Amino acid sequence: MPTIIPIPAFADNYIWLMREGNAAAVVDAGDAAPVIDYLEREHLDLTAIICTHHHGDHVGGNRALLQRWQVPVYGPARETIPGRTEALREGDEIVIDGIGLKLSVLDIPGHTAGHIAFVGRSGAAPLLFCGDTLFAMGCGRLFEGTPSDMVTSLDKLAALPGNTLVYCGHEYTLANLRFALAVEPGNAKLRERETMARAQRTRGEPTLPTTIADERETNPFLRTAETTIRAAASAHADRELADRVGVFAEIRAWKNAFR
Ligand code: ZN
Ligand code: FE
Repeated sequence: MPTIIPIPAFADNYIWLMREGNAAAVVDAGDAAPVIDYLEREHLDLTAIICTHHHGDHVGGNRALLQRWQVPVYGPARETIPGRTEALREGDEIVIDGIGLKLSVLDIPGHTAGHIAFVGRSGAAPLLFCGDTLFAMGCGRLFEGTPSDMVTSLDKLAALPGNTLVYCGHEYTLANLRFALAVEPGNAKLRERETMARAQRTRGEPTLPTTIADERETNPFLRTAETTIRAAASAHADRELADRVGVFAEIRAWKNAFR
């Protein structure tokens, strides 16, 4: 089963690299240089490029990688992805050459209109690559979708097995924690995660992957059905919010303005 390695890029992106033997595949190769450095240092051959959505910090390295390795580029059918060879939508399954990993595709619009996620299983653990839709204790901004789209997409991800390892596109954990604690100051599990995440960042380690179980317990954007979250969102809105989409929309707007 493949090893999954974070390659930091730009200020806070992670390019996730899966390796098995001499083969490697990358998820969301926003920048080619750190990927090429890693592949050369480790004497690995690239076998696939996998893309969750069209933003430059997730696909910006595709062309340069394709100049060195002619490999399939898997990406969402409904978006423009540089070099894409395989257009994917929900229900599609792919097998990554040389890695021995099968991934199935979910449509998770909201951050972008065609955003997709990849679900697989490495050994005992299910895994998820979710780009900029679900973050540790946060979620992506709604650039091309409605609150209702995003709630539906996040529900799909929250329904995955609790032990699913969640590989997100950015290291946003500490900032997300600050906001999550403002919404839900009484959540003891959030305090626990804060201690752990601070220690990890002090050591220079990623706080990812997270798990679906941890996100269900701490991520305000997955907890819109909880009384505590609805009360906090209603207080912030200064009116009673009745449904989950309304609660989600309020905390998403609250987070956008949060400093
Ligand atoms: Zn993005
Ligand atoms: Fe991004």
